[in-house]
Amino acid sequence: MTFSHTTNKEKHVPLTPIIHDWMRQLIDVPLQLQDAVAQYRSPLNVQSLVPFAENVGAFKSVFEKYELQHRIYFARKANKCISYATHAAELGEGVDTASFEELAQCLEAGIDPAQLISTAAVKSSRLLELAVEHHVTIIIDNLDELDLLEKVVQRTGKNANISLRVGGFEVNGTTLHTRFGFSLTEAQKLILDHIAHHPMLSYVGLHFHLNGYSIPERAAAIGQCIELLDALQEQNVQTLHLDIGGGYLVNYLNDQSEWEYFHSELKKAILEGRQELTYRNDPLGMVKIKNKLYGEPKVYPYYNEVNKDGFLEKILISHVDEYDAPIYQLLRDRKIEVRIEPGRSLLDQTGMTVARVAFRKHDAAGNLLVGLEMNRTQMKSSSSDFLLDPIHLPQQIEEAADLSSEEQSVLGYLVGAYCLEQEFILLRKIKFHGVPTVGDLMVFVNTAGYMMHFFESQAHQFALAENVFYTEKAFSIDR
Ligand SMILES: *Cc1c(COP(=O)(O)O)cnc(C)c1O
Repeated sequence: MTFSHTTNKEKHVPLTPIIHDWMRQLIDVPLQLQDAVAQYRSPLNVQSLVPFAENVGAFKSVFEKYELQHRIYFARKANKCISYATHAAELGEGVDTASFEELAQCLEAGIDPAQLISTAAVKSSRLLELAVEHHVTIIIDNLDELDLLEKVVQRTGKNANISLRVGGFEVNGTTLHTRFGFSLTEAQKLILDHIAHHPMLSYVGLHFHLNGYSIPERAAAIGQCIELLDALQEQNVQTLHLDIGGGYLVNYLNDQSEWEYFHSELKKAILEGRQELTYRNDPLGMVKIKNKLYGEPKVYPYYNEVNKDGFLEKILISHVDEYDAPIYQLLRDRKIEVRIEPGRSLLDQTGMTVARVAFRKHDAAGNLLVGLEMNRTQMKSSSSDFLLDPIHLPQQIEEAADLSSEEQSVLGYLVGAYCLEQEFILLRKIKFHGVPTVGDLMVFVNTAGYMMHFFESQAHQFALAENVFYTEKAFSIDR
């Protein structure tokens, strides 16, 4: 069956992703991906540990440059696969676990408990018992959690190492809002009046994890933690670690000008100054009132000049109000081990999601819709849309030849398997080099950090996607 369509001449707004060599190789010779999707079904998450080790190495080299004691705890919640956790441990680093199950799986996988921490937002007694049993450092967020932990150590007769989560830092005269942790004054009082004298609890460090990506806010938080640990030191209470959390920006896009152009064209489109860029002119979180736009799109900042190790370095070389030396020197002088908990940034370039085209059709307005054998929870984060161009891999090699011609290109949308009107894999209008045919593949690159797993659900009883790792020209299931 041939599929009729009108060739679309409107100007497309590209967002060209950065693609690591291992993914490029698979995309260039699509037969392997076709076979893998036939074997493991669609969608398939294909991943590699090669960029993961590169990302760990990049962070390490910053710490080494500034001669800082350090440990990198991979935040497991960003991806379900155990392979990343075990690889982080093999590389001599650690894993930040955020639930009983995440911790139990890491222990079962044989990771040394000294390389694990527990930052779970809700800690059951079952979780605390497991952490205490294995002497895993526990990050304490509130008094009820501390109470429960005290009961657990009394019951089991085992000591526990604890770090306190702190928050509410002052930046430019205002308090950074958070629902997590203790204020610095509460923490100081709690440590000095209670924890330092506790027979079974050992205070080992401070921890914070800030929302957003502001370098001055991170620096201010570190400065205020250093003040606290200096005050504790004056009372002879020693702090071994300062854990500055995750949240290191990733750069997904090749070209800053594409990113800026997308934003300006999106605004133009929403104000009806050009053809739509998003389905039915979805404003991606902006608000339009009386033909005026308010706010910015609620999307991840996919283009970042300063990212990953560069972002960490900018924090460490910052100065803070309280002291006249750069942060790295303050930490080095105090012999504090600096800990970080990167999730997304260690997964940069480690994974891609591959889905099979199931159907083509038009909606009531005549838009081309391409149906994929996947659902939108299998490629979803807190960003309103994943703003990277997917890669269309035609099944027929001969067809691929014609596809390079601009003449054949068409614009349309990708839809998924949940029975909702809103079930779009991407809200953004996509340019295809020719109408996709049933059985073609659509590849979404750089999806390992949050995109593939964080919101994946099983409505309609759909099976969860398989996860395979690509090594030496073969695929193996994550175990
Ligand atoms: C989510 C989270 C992280 C990881 O954040 P990324 O943005 O993926 O680096 C680290 N620590 C805590 C406490 C978190 O909640």
